[in-house]
Amino acid sequence: MLIANRGEIAIRVARTARALGFPTVAVYSDADRFAPHVQACDRAYWIGASEPRESYLNIDRIVGVAKAAGARFVHPGYGFLSERPRFVEACQRAGLVFVGPSAENMERMGDKIQARATADELQVPRVPGSAGAVKSPAEAASVASKIGYPVLLKAAAGGGGKGMRRVNEAGQIAAAFEGASREALSAFGDGAMYVEKLILEPHHVEIQVFGDGKGGAIHLGERECSVQRRHQKVLEESPSPVLNQFPDTRPRMFEAAVRITKHLRYAGAGTLEFIVDGEGNYYFLEMNTRLQVEHPVTEWVTGVDLVAMQLLLAAGELALPTEGPDRSGSSVEVRVYAEDPKNFLPAPGKIGVIDPPSGPFVRWDSAFRGPGEVSMFYDPMIAKLSVWGPTRAEALQRMRVALDELRIEAPMAPDGTREGSLKTNLGFLRRLVRNGDVLAGNTTTDLIEKHPELKAPPGGAPGREAAIAAALARMLGQAAVTQEGESGVSHSVWSWQARREGARS
Ligand code: ADP
Repeated sequence: MLIANRGEIAIRVARTARALGFPTVAVYSDADRFAPHVQACDRAYWIGASEPRESYLNIDRIVGVAKAAGARFVHPGYGFLSERPRFVEACQRAGLVFVGPSAENMERMGDKIQARATADELQVPRVPGSAGAVKSPAEAASVASKIGYPVLLKAAAGGGGKGMRRVNEAGQIAAAFEGASREALSAFGDGAMYVEKLILEPHHVEIQVFGDGKGGAIHLGERECSVQRRHQKVLEESPSPVLNQFPDTRPRMFEAAVRITKHLRYAGAGTLEFIVDGEGNYYFLEMNTRLQVEHPVTEWVTGVDLVAMQLLLAAGELALPTEGPDRSGSSVEVRVYAEDPKNFLPAPGKIGVIDPPSGPFVRWDSAFRGPGEVSMFYDPMIAKLSVWGPTRAEALQRMRVALDELRIEAPMAPDGTREGSLKTNLGFLRRLVRNGDVLAGNTTTDLIEKHPELKAPPGGAPGREAAIAAALARMLGQAAVTQEGESGVSHSVWSWQARREGARS
């Protein structure tokens, strides 16, 4: 099986493939010559320059390599080509089995306007808004005045929060329409827009499904991914705290998700995303026709290896059961990013030390082991850390300990200081899993905005790391740094050593 991806997901897929006896083929770009995902596979092929367009998005090159390597299967991971119908078709033409849904499934659900029409057809509630695309700002304004402000303008082809604008009043709609449409056109090659009512303080709840391609489908429970920055998930969990408050909503959402999956004759793993309001009403948002980043929380609560299910279904070695698995306990995942905690923008950089946590029911998915570099060419996610506990409180407790244990540092320079400053969201995550609203399960999508203190670096009481750094500095005689002017004591480890040697001689 060729794995058309990189990073943690390529490694994760390779692990299961290996367990099932599928030899694996990696692909890599210039930037990834020495990447761990290359070592995780039995063979590896170079596919081009570092820019994704030249390598991980190059359909012809990847299909050509799969043929040359004698692969029978292609797993797309998530991101990159995982939701491109053209890639599925190219694999099929080359006689390769694409591990995922059909190109037709993808096309139908990849376009959000068509996906909404499917929901309407099956009487699954979706967010009120325009029936289809709106062609002009004036048409958008007329829909908005019917459903009432605030509204969201969304791109039919949108993803990752791109091509989406909140509009509070009629006066803002023209500029928002032009901006979002232009952004969607440049990012996705399609500027079509639709209008949706903005649901206030919603929860993001998604249902994991599997289909057998013949009209059979099951669900594997839900994940709540409400904690988001820039419309991107940062903490995910199962079961969903909001559904725990509205026990009637959960089975209805499961039933709706399975109904859509069966209707599509969907094949493989998929996720139906919904938003749930403060009264337990649920609205279909979109379907992701691939494995999700946050699939480990489902694996924790179900005990099912989702990649194994994907592979066995694609290989025709598994008959889909009629019911999904039982679920038990509670799982939480956080995404560790190289990003500026102040504005959550990517901050690529070099990693010197990475010391992951371990312990009972702790899982670490990462492509970083020891020194490495978060490349500017790709997603700046460093790792996913997930835990399980018999209850949500215990899972969160394990997560707090695991995050405290995790160490990520910039490389050491010869003078003993840390080179540059690797920016990560680790401090943010540590504060997040202690936040009162997170602990109480009040995880609406505006949680991070509501708590600006989450972004603040720890002032006042020093954290564990700061305390250790201070103790080390004292040991190394660096405390003199602050009085450098007076004492003339220089502050590098080496000069400290030289002084000691001088004293000995
Ligand atoms: P993308 O494909 O870009 O991720 P989605 O449609 O999945 O876009 O929306 C991303 C996030 O934006 C959702 O998880 C939710 O938090 C928020 N969102 C989307 N639509 C609405 C809406 N109508 N009302 C409130 N929040 C929304």
